[in-house]
Amino acid sequence: MTRLWGAIEAGGTKFNCALVSARQRIVASDSVPTTDPVETLEAVIRFFRQRLGSSILEGIGIASFGPLNLDPFSDSYGLLTSTPKKGWSGVNPVRQLKTCFDVPIIIDTDVIGAALAEYHLGAARGLTDFCYITVGTGIGAGFMINDQPVHGLGHSEWGHIRIPHDLDADPFPGNCPFHGDCLEGLASGSALEARWGSPAQTLAPDHPAWDLEAHYLALALSNIIMTLAPQRIILGGGIMKQTRLFAAIRAQITQFLAGYMHIPSLEADENSYIVPPGCGQNAGILGAALLVQSRTGQGHD
Ligand code: ZN
Repeated sequence: MTRLWGAIEAGGTKFNCALVSARQRIVASDSVPTTDPVETLEAVIRFFRQRLGSSILEGIGIASFGPLNLDPFSDSYGLLTSTPKKGWSGVNPVRQLKTCFDVPIIIDTDVIGAALAEYHLGAARGLTDFCYITVGTGIGAGFMINDQPVHGLGHSEWGHIRIPHDLDADPFPGNCPFHGDCLEGLASGSALEARWGSPAQTLAPDHPAWDLEAHYLALALSNIIMTLAPQRIILGGGIMKQTRLFAAIRAQITQFLAGYMHIPSLEADENSYIVPPGCGQNAGILGAALLVQSRTGQGHD
């Protein structure tokens, strides 16, 4: 009898669902639009029921937007708390799936899912301490320390750190509804669109937006490097498709570190310190599967 793991990549516009083998082969997959929670989760449950056939479901991993309750000892483990996604605050996908599938169900942030995929299959193989950062509509980070995802009180809200903001050079006040000019308020895709008046993907490679973006990301990454001294930083998300950002960020970080901290892989020409993700477009869904496979001690090689 084939053993399979359920994987859900829960996003603001769609829920990607898959059944994944012990060796991370995607056996079946589908995509469900994110509408109201009842309709969306019913469609997810229907996918698993219909596609499982005679296989055994070993567990379900969910890599989700948030904020989320990640305390496994809490009655409300898996609860989506103050999410701005309309209708989803107070929804608990873990609890709803548990009523249909009596298997281990693990939920974590989408960035921790992506970090796990990179750790097992991508740009962080062989590393013990690294960061996965996504720069898209919002900004998020997943940290792996000593081979484990970092949770602390819940999950990181690194996207909202404070960085120096020179109002003379950049009078844009920032667009984070909570903090104004936090990192996300200055450097996310939505901040770029608000500052420059058009979506980031329409800004030409020589637009001044990109030098400013590299400046803010380099400031933020310098703080991570000083704090955690990670072995590598992986930068993903839609904004990082502007690949010239990588060289600009590396150059500015070297300047900010000011010779105080030496990172040979940053200084060397091969650019192996700040890198794009190594997993392809299936990283999110494979990361979701790995959330439960790694926690239940089965699955990956
Ligand atoms: Zn903020």
